[in-house]
Amino acid sequence: MKMPIAGCVIALFGGLAASGTPADDAAVNPAVLAAVKACDTDARHLLERLVAIDSGTGDREGLAAEAAVYTKVLQAAGAQVRREAPTPPSVGDNLVATLHGTGKGRILLIAHMDTVFSRGDVAKLKPHWDGDRYIGPGAGDDKSGGVIAVCAFKALRATGFRDFARIDLLLNASEETGSLGSRDLIQRMARDSDLVLNLERGVPTDKAVVSRKGSSVLIFEFTGRAAHSGLEPEKGRNAVLEAARVALMLGGLANPDQKTTVTVDILSGGDKTNVVPAHAILKADVRALTAAEFDRVEQAAAQIAAKPAIEGVTITSRLDRDFPPWPRSPSADAMLARANRLYAELGRSLTGIEVGSSSDASLAAATGTPTLDGFGMEGAGAHTPDDSVDLATLTPRAYLLVRMLMEVGREPGGM
Ligand SMILES: [Zn+2]
Repeated sequence: MKMPIAGCVIALFGGLAASGTPADDAAVNPAVLAAVKACDTDARHLLERLVAIDSGTGDREGLAAEAAVYTKVLQAAGAQVRREAPTPPSVGDNLVATLHGTGKGRILLIAHMDTVFSRGDVAKLKPHWDGDRYIGPGAGDDKSGGVIAVCAFKALRATGFRDFARIDLLLNASEETGSLGSRDLIQRMARDSDLVLNLERGVPTDKAVVSRKGSSVLIFEFTGRAAHSGLEPEKGRNAVLEAARVALMLGGLANPDQKTTVTVDILSGGDKTNVVPAHAILKADVRALTAAEFDRVEQAAAQIAAKPAIEGVTITSRLDRDFPPWPRSPSADAMLARANRLYAELGRSLTGIEVGSSSDASLAAATGTPTLDGFGMEGAGAHTPDDSVDLATLTPRAYLLVRMLMEVGREPGGM
């Protein structure tokens, strides 16, 4: 564990604090620092145990095994743990761990148990350490999020801090496929909280996410008419050709000024080489920062669908909206400033960034509750065999998390 800076900060600000200068605010909290450092060994072991379980979205057995591990360690950290069945029904219960305190602030932490990996990938990819980095399926995305939450709960208990009304940790079982079984729960809990911190892995170095694009899928279906490709191709209406033409048009729906992207991902149709294809499907990933941009793309797609180039082919289009856009907001920036003041206690500074990917933070922020994301340990390689988390960032990130829980717990409306 390398923390050269913290020691310097204590030395630097210790004297100033005594003199009553504004540097009072920047003095490290030694009890919290000691408590999060004390997490380190257990956190590494817990991460190894969690990553060793295959828990791709929909893996009932794996998610149950992971939930059992979490339940035990969270109960040992003083939390009340309950299961929340997914609504609408899907595979894997969500888990909610709650700490009750004596104060005012209500904070919701979110991490997810599911991964994008398949059963057998743990054995195939062989999770391992590379220095302080742990590499394995779901290590960074997002088992590290659960691990840092457990550390924070333990640190609060170790320091005896209870000046908050409630701290909830929601461990989502279906994030990687759009949180279909937990959307209502996330939004209900977010509405009933003063702050939401999503524990997706942090972006190196010292970044927190304050805005994400919304995600959606644009779907075109093409219906033509089958015919013998050799005998009478002129009688056919080729759905694949029409789909190819439309695919080439979709780049034009992007809007660089608004950072809206449209990416063709799936184009399929036809299944025999001697039949004019009567059916084709085209899907494009659409990301945008505003709902208005989604509306614009949806309308433009409908206009394209209304004018097929091949007479006799019909086209339908629709935009399936997934995570809503999470635009940057003054309330999130105010929370970021608050977090930044706390991170300064370690001599560090936290930078807010906007990213193109989606997460549960978008669902939480849509309720109007201030939300910050990327509040976990720092990592990289999500959704690849190099999915990793850097345990050298546990101490500073867990310190920041615990201090944020304390400050917002004590004074939810403070600045
Ligand atoms: Zn992911």
